[in-house]
Amino acid sequence: MTAVQKVAIVGSGVAGLAAAIQLAKAGVAVDVFDAKPELSTAGSGISLQGNALRVFDALGAWDDIRAAGFHFEGLNLRAPGPGAPVVAQLPDVKSGGPDYPAAMGMPRADLARILLDHAQRAGANVRFGAKVTGVDARADDAVEVFVDDESAGEYDLLIGADGLNSTVRDLIGIQTKPEPTGMGIWRTFVSRPAEVERAELYYGGPVYIAGYTPTGEDSMYAYLVEKAEDRFGTSDEDATRIMLEESRAYDGPWNSIRADLAAGAHANYTWFTKHIVDAPWNRGRVVIIGDAAHSCPPTIAQGAAQGLEDALVLTELLVQRDAVDQELWDEFHGRRLPRAQAVVEASVQLGQWQIDGNRDADAGGLIFGIAQKMAEPA
Ligand SMILES: Cc1cc2nc3c(=O)[nH]c(=O)nc-3n(C[C@H](O)[C@H](O)[C@H](O)COP(=O)(O)OP(=O)(O)OC[C@H]3O[C@@H](n4cnc5c(N)ncnc54)[C@H](O)[C@@H]3O)c2cc1C
Repeated sequence: MTAVQKVAIVGSGVAGLAAAIQLAKAGVAVDVFDAKPELSTAGSGISLQGNALRVFDALGAWDDIRAAGFHFEGLNLRAPGPGAPVVAQLPDVKSGGPDYPAAMGMPRADLARILLDHAQRAGANVRFGAKVTGVDARADDAVEVFVDDESAGEYDLLIGADGLNSTVRDLIGIQTKPEPTGMGIWRTFVSRPAEVERAELYYGGPVYIAGYTPTGEDSMYAYLVEKAEDRFGTSDEDATRIMLEESRAYDGPWNSIRADLAAGAHANYTWFTKHIVDAPWNRGRVVIIGDAAHSCPPTIAQGAAQGLEDALVLTELLVQRDAVDQELWDEFHGRRLPRAQAVVEASVQLGQWQIDGNRDADAGGLIFGIAQKMAEPA
């Protein structure tokens, strides 16, 4: 018998849907609540490292994910200026093991659609337009969940996978919150020139990093990482203009990106954040996972991967054990916290070296060390 029979999950991002799939497959009754009116179809692309791909396989979603994205090995470093010369070709560590590519890129909307489809087919009940506003966790063996201020019933467990500004985190009294790291990012979703076959980064020039990652035969996402500024009210027109102007120092495939921007490709802006909630991530029968528990700049593209691993480890324990007890929580935190913390610290450090202009730092060594760690099972 599983440790839980009826679970509420707040949030239909990667962490929430991964947890929903695993629990529903094990015969647990799962309700997922998401405040959004519907699944996001907007958004840019995402890079998924081998350890994330390994989780998709455990969910049973790997074949669909593989077909919807663009997998590649290695990373090219290019220089600003004429011809955008490739100055280094770095090998990747296969952090998911030899059975998976080192990394792949895919449109975020496709990832969301595939995970939702798997969750629903496994039997999870997913409700959009359902904002979780309260929890009553006073009972030892149950938690009452409130959606739009009305009781949605009692559950054996509530999983708060409700992202950076988690309501569940607030409701259970955890004070830790995301903080800006000092970097902001412009992103756009554009067509892929044939010469782009892997992720490429340009260091130097007017921004900290200019880069792009292929997400499909015809698509890729491109980004400029710069000093954080208050750019949140920028109009669509100005957003596109800023990306066009700030990318002029970058030649090569950036010419094609600029042509797409000039033709109307949308640009969006956000800040990088950092936080890690110290153990425990649960208060009684309410637990937070994914960005609710930790966030970091995407300097090693591990944010979603860590949320997926949180979901996988938590659900493995809930399915294999027969009680929600301290032993379960100790094992969960022992397996998740040091790993997520190492990712957050390394990701923040890499960003800080850029901000400080530290060119002597061993960025390659730090990235390689983290990738080796991620290659171990979660
Ligand atoms: C610029 C940028 C680039 C990134 N690039 C990468 C990358 O390349 N690779 C990578 O691995 N990671 C990347 N990340 C990190 C990654 O996007 C996140 O770690 C991941 O998407 C978080 O997933 P999640 O499921 O925890 O939360 P989310 O995806 O944020 O989902 C939370 C959900 O909860 C819902 N919700 C919130 N409050 C409530 C409520 N009260 N009631 C009901 N629903 C609620 C929201 O509507 C949302 O759907 C990047 C992050 C940023 C900022």
